[in-house]
Amino acid sequence: MTWKVSSAVADPPGMAGIIILGAGVGGLSTAMLLARDGHEITVLERDPAGPPPPARAWDSWERRGVNQFRLAHFMLPRWYAQIAADLPDVPAELRAAGALSTNTLAMLPEALRGPLRPDDGRFDTVTARRPVLEAVLATVAARTPGVTIRRGVTVTGLWSDPDQRSGPPHVTGVLVEGGRAVRGDLVVDCGGRRSALGAWLDAVGARRPVEEREESGFVYYGRHFRGAPPEPRMYVAQHHDSLTVLTLPADNGTWSVVLATSKRDAALRALRDPHAFDAALARYPLAAHWRDGEPISGVEVMAGIEDRYRRLAVDGEPVATGVVAVGDAWACTNPTLGRGTSIGLLHARVLRDVLREVDPQDHDKLARRVDEQTTALVEPLHRMTVWYDRHRLAEIDADIAGVGYHTDDERWAISKATFAASLADPAIARGYQSLASLLTTPADLYAEPGMLDRIVELGMRAPRYPLPGPDRRELLAAVG
Ligand SMILES: Cc1cc2nc3c(=O)[nH]c(=O)nc-3n(C[C@H](O)[C@H](O)[C@H](O)COP(=O)(O)OP(=O)(O)OC[C@H]3O[C@@H](n4cnc5c(N)ncnc54)[C@H](O)[C@@H]3O)c2cc1C
Repeated sequence: MTWKVSSAVADPPGMAGIIILGAGVGGLSTAMLLARDGHEITVLERDPAGPPPPARAWDSWERRGVNQFRLAHFMLPRWYAQIAADLPDVPAELRAAGALSTNTLAMLPEALRGPLRPDDGRFDTVTARRPVLEAVLATVAARTPGVTIRRGVTVTGLWSDPDQRSGPPHVTGVLVEGGRAVRGDLVVDCGGRRSALGAWLDAVGARRPVEEREESGFVYYGRHFRGAPPEPRMYVAQHHDSLTVLTLPADNGTWSVVLATSKRDAALRALRDPHAFDAALARYPLAAHWRDGEPISGVEVMAGIEDRYRRLAVDGEPVATGVVAVGDAWACTNPTLGRGTSIGLLHARVLRDVLREVDPQDHDKLARRVDEQTTALVEPLHRMTVWYDRHRLAEIDADIAGVGYHTDDERWAISKATFAASLADPAIARGYQSLASLLTTPADLYAEPGMLDRIVELGMRAPRYPLPGPDRRELLAAVG
């Protein structure tokens, strides 16, 4: 059974079906997935401007609703695999808009990865600057039958059934600026990192959802360039003393470079100055050539990035029915690993699959099943990412303090060893890249016969930072 717009609904403007709050990457993908199953979707987006043609999106699209809109993005192979399987016209349109088709394993020199093998196609992806990516998604979504996108509409709260006498509140729509209600059979919050869903649920009398928040503690210094695309000589993320360098190829001969570090590193705040950024980048032999282009942005800085998790069930009991959260509105992390859109798309697919199996009028069962499947299939990826964030930040903070990072968590030592060993063994390079691409889990990788032994043998005694680059003293001297 699917949800259709009901002409019988009287509240102006008279609407049922599924309401998706937010036309970001997650909201648009969710809208298309659900509409292709026959649901009637209305997307409400606060920002008034619709997408310009992708070629003009970088220069002209104003998107105040997404803080990271002009910051570096890279689409992982997991994102690509999912979108190619379910929404194949998106990658086709992306390529037509100049997006880059690439392979994250092929970024390694052949001396490290060996010749490419037939199944290395799993590391394929298509990637673009965020405005270009979103302009394409918005264009494809707008022409998808069953999807209506209304821009310039700010949701201010939830609308629940006032006559309900028992059980958790049942949400039957949203309130929008001006006090009007828009009715829907299901509300999907894709409002991103700053979603106010917790407070809105409170306002309709629901129990507070489970919420965990902590500042991730990272700061991002990022810059975009244009020119002859640099030849990758390493994975997109290179971890060094005091910072991680990300080199991210993108569409139409553009790319970005990010220096991600701890917000406690006062000395590295100098990186906001383009000269200091440039001087630092020059010190990393496998990344320095990514400066060789025309800068098309200053150094964009993003700090105060939260790791946040929200669960709409407490002790297994839904706090409300008729409402779910998908993508960053559900959970978000520090983006150094570039996983947000891949996890969001997985989550959208989970919602689609639940709606295939559960009668949507069975509100309680729907809420429970979405919670159950989210917890089983999506949450582990979030937890893994937060686990990584905490260790990496602690490691950087130890670098700042000039001491080695020690932890009793031996999984961290194995994770570091996996990276080091991947530089010495083509099979481990593929394993490491599968982890980085979200194509496998550590448990599955380390269960492969001989894999863990080989990682321990090749990686456990490697230097803490095996890639060539400055130590902290040299880095600070470079940024002056
Ligand atoms: C610095 C940075 C770099 C990143 N890099 C990567 C990367 O390389 N790869 C990757 O996969 N992910 C990356 N991410 C994560 C990625 O940006 C997010 O996962 C993704 O944007 C989440 O999509 P979303 O649709 O859930 O939320 P968003 O994209 O944030 O969209 C939310 C939308 O909801 C709208 N909205 C919010 N409130 C309301 C309201 N009340 N009424 C109406 N509309 C509303 C907003 O205007 C916005 O359009 C990065 C994140 C950051 C912070």
